[in-house]
Amino acid sequence: MVRYIYIFSSGHSGSTLLDLLIGNMSGTVSLGEVKWLPLFLKTHEHCTCGKPPQTCPFWNPILDELGLAGDTAADQTINAFRLSLEAERNNQLQKLSFYARLASAVIHPQGCAGFGSDAILKNMIRLYDAVLKTAPAEAVVDSSKSIMTAQWLRTRLPRNARVIHLIRDGRAVMASAMRKEVPAERAAKTWLHDNRMAGSIFRSGPSMNLKALRYEDLCRDPESTMRELADFLEKPYTEDILHLRGRERHLIGGNRMRFSGEDKIVNVETWKSRLTEKDLAVFERTAGPLNRKLGYSGT
Ligand SMILES: [Zn+2]
Repeated sequence: MVRYIYIFSSGHSGSTLLDLLIGNMSGTVSLGEVKWLPLFLKTHEHCTCGKPPQTCPFWNPILDELGLAGDTAADQTINAFRLSLEAERNNQLQKLSFYARLASAVIHPQGCAGFGSDAILKNMIRLYDAVLKTAPAEAVVDSSKSIMTAQWLRTRLPRNARVIHLIRDGRAVMASAMRKEVPAERAAKTWLHDNRMAGSIFRSGPSMNLKALRYEDLCRDPESTMRELADFLEKPYTEDILHLRGRERHLIGGNRMRFSGEDKIVNVETWKSRLTEKDLAVFERTAGPLNRKLGYSGT
């Protein structure tokens, strides 16, 4: 039975939209980028309902279940509840170790864990199971986008996990990142790295529980794309999956779309007007070949 649905991608690839759409499927619940939950607990940042998790009617019983409820939950307890190496600082060695193992996964298909991975995976599953115990749902949707978590879930819980790699034209991703003051070259390199590592995951063993999805296909033909995805997730397809408005949501993190109440699924290709010739040259030099290999050619 599918219990854990995980979306990984480079940033700015449309994962919040996909999370919301899958969360519309019967028996599923969207969690957003739940790897940031410990940070939300410490800073009292709001989930999509407008309340901090401590007082949100959805998250409060989950926190209770995990022993993290109440303002009195000590920072130490929250700090111990690690959900992602990538959401932490000072872990370059662990990250490099993971990526090195993943890159060699063709030889060691099962052996992709890095230091600290067991504790993090255990916490993730504890969190997901607490959600499924307290909410009326059979499967959680997590769009935390961590390549590490995606790989752990699919190799260690092959029957219960479904992992989706969301791909988007690197030039669109670069333009979105640059709006947040990320320099052009760094934006292109990040997209290149994330999508290369995703390629390693696809080469690292059986991919029954792994699916690639292009953001542009989702926007061009939402119905067919979501029908196919519903099959992969073992959920029925219903037309209301495509309606984004009018639902109660409790997402953590993600982009501002989670608050916007929009109901349109449109690929706004503003990168075409926003990126200068110079930006495009930087992208081409850095990541052009992989972008084309993924099917993005032309302008
Ligand atoms: Zn809430």
